[in-house]
Amino acid sequence: MKVLEEKILSKGTVLPNNVLKVDGFLNHQIDPELMLEIGKEFARRFKGKGITKILTIESSGIAPSVMTGLVMHVPVIFARKKKSQTMVDDLFTTAVFSYTKGERQEISVSKKFLSNQDRVLIIDDFLANGEAAYGLAKIVEESGAQLVGVGIVIEKAFQKGGDRLRSKKIHVESLVAIDSLANREISFKKHKEV
Ligand code: 5GP
Repeated sequence: MKVLEEKILSKGTVLPNNVLKVDGFLNHQIDPELMLEIGKEFARRFKGKGITKILTIESSGIAPSVMTGLVMHVPVIFARKKKSQTMVDDLFTTAVFSYTKGERQEISVSKKFLSNQDRVLIIDDFLANGEAAYGLAKIVEESGAQLVGVGIVIEKAFQKGGDRLRSKKIHVESLVAIDSLANREISFKKHKEV
């Protein structure tokens, strides 16, 4: 997605440990117009797949997911990282290792929002080693719902998450794929526009 690549080049910075900082439009301050374009693009790529729910993880997956839900007319669920006092229902829970925090975290989704009738699209802001997406996929599996695919805003293609998911025959669509962040330079994977 050209507009996203341009935004990453103009506003993104590379931190140690292969972390791309995009807090000017995605991870802290949010660019709503760009989020809407992202939502339209995910909706286009997963059109006709009968998706009934979008599942993401708080907090940075929420903005692109809500815009996709808006365009697709389906509800958006975000897995919570901390159990709130209002989460008194039965929960689907799994542990994921957080790439940016370097620690294991439990993530939970209330059982009342996912059922075996659902066809689910998982969306997240980044794909690195695939822990977050894989944890969400496990929750979908536990609920008996059908996982239709995974939509990623920024895939770091030099890390193993993409291969991990695709080797399990999961349909992964990333809007941009980064080949390398070496020497603090952002280089994109050559891609075919679909
Ligand atoms: P994974 O679970 O695939 O290893 O990492 C994805 C998760 O870690 C995303 O939910 C995202 O929040 C965070 N993450 C991974 N890499 C980056 C990065 O380069 N920049 C930012 N801002 N977040 C990242």
